[in-house]
Amino acid sequence: MERASFSPGCSFLKSLLVAVLLLTSGSSAIGQSKSRTGSAPQARKQPTQPRNPQIARLVSEIDARNIERTIRKLVSFGTRNTLSEQNDPNRGIGAARDWLYGEFEKIAAASGGRLTVEKQAFEQPKAARVPQPTMLTNILATLKGTQADSANRVYVVSGHYDSMCTSPTDAKCDAPGANDDASGTAAVLELARVMSKYKFEATIIFMTVPGEEQELLGSTHFAEEAKKNSMDIEAMFTNDIIGSSIGGNGKRDTHTVRVFSEGVPSNETQQEAMTRRSVGGENDSASRQLARFIKESGERYVPGMKVWMIYRRDRYGRGGDHQPFLERGYAAVRFTEPNEDYHHQHQNVRVENGIQYGDLPQFDDFNYIADVARVNAASLAALALAPARPKNLMVNTGLSNDTELKWDANKEIDLAGYEIVWRDTTEPVWTHAQSIGNVNSYTMKGMSKDNYFFGVRAIDKEGNRSPVSYPRPMPRAPANRTTPASN
Ligand SMILES: [Zn+2]
Repeated sequence: MERASFSPGCSFLKSLLVAVLLLTSGSSAIGQSKSRTGSAPQARKQPTQPRNPQIARLVSEIDARNIERTIRKLVSFGTRNTLSEQNDPNRGIGAARDWLYGEFEKIAAASGGRLTVEKQAFEQPKAARVPQPTMLTNILATLKGTQADSANRVYVVSGHYDSMCTSPTDAKCDAPGANDDASGTAAVLELARVMSKYKFEATIIFMTVPGEEQELLGSTHFAEEAKKNSMDIEAMFTNDIIGSSIGGNGKRDTHTVRVFSEGVPSNETQQEAMTRRSVGGENDSASRQLARFIKESGERYVPGMKVWMIYRRDRYGRGGDHQPFLERGYAAVRFTEPNEDYHHQHQNVRVENGIQYGDLPQFDDFNYIADVARVNAASLAALALAPARPKNLMVNTGLSNDTELKWDANKEIDLAGYEIVWRDTTEPVWTHAQSIGNVNSYTMKGMSKDNYFFGVRAIDKEGNRSPVSYPRPMPRAPANRTTPASN
């Protein structure tokens, strides 16, 4: 199995970097104020971070048997098409909704009031895949953060509980949806069960939504409400088709999960696009930083799993519940199995030419789903225990061979300080990190912003690290504007 992060790049580049570091030694000047200047000599390859015992423990409590039980129960409702029966206790989307709500309620009861469950219901008007106005109900289980300065910071983990057969508007056919997306729904329920026994500084929302197959309606409603209420969602994960370790190509891979992240933000403005074209940054959106964070934390706590980062929003011709979040400026990623089998997705259950079609539980690998849930658990816990990523990070755009960064001070009471991270412009992940103490600006002497990508992350006293923030250009001082722009 391929081991993950921070693998060295090409050794020529490394030698170059070492040379740069040596050349700049002696130029370090560490100030007393909340601002510092540093040179690269102390800089080092990212050290292996210690494991937080709380995260290791909760990851070990994810149980594949619970996931199997949930999937078989969801499949037993025959169909979970969003347009199917709302009031039949045994068949249709309503039965699935009520059963899921009851399961979250049981977890809430065991949490001593720390987990709260609600139905977020709304009437969806007629739409492309909704022939008549239809009630949709998102189920939200909220584990409130325990640290006053962080409780408004929210992480959302989601799966969709609706399903479809060949036609998205056929509400009568059997649509077992064992993989798409009982697998993601079961993972979210198991995450709620395990994580609600622990305390996190920030808030986690465990969400299951309908309407995904009707063009992302449940998740769109949640994201729109969140936006209206200025909810500070720092990250959103959708788990969708995480059920099978065998693809239609015959490949069996029980050790890989794909994490899709977009590079250019879906809500990028014209001005931001101009800046990006001018200085780069198409590989450094908040969602891309989130994917890197998941790769680091997921592989640290679930050593059997490889997080395969895919640098695109989603697969060709497909979409998912992370999109409405991206469109509203929230960082979001999609988890999906590495090799899909299209005979088992969006297909009427049938045998044709000896081939079994349909999304049946026999094609799920419950141990694999549990491992994907563990990657989610590790990443969510690491996010919700860490400080927020630094805000308002800016890089001085003046002509200089040094790189000057500044940002707003984090507000967490247990903040220890910050790390500068950097990488060669062709590296996929951050390769270097340097601790700089509790300051709000820092200058990397002798390392030009033209030649590397830089970022900053926050660290608390227990060593929990935030995702990396990527800087935007600092507005230029008027005096600098006399420099010709065309050189
Ligand atoms: Zn799906």
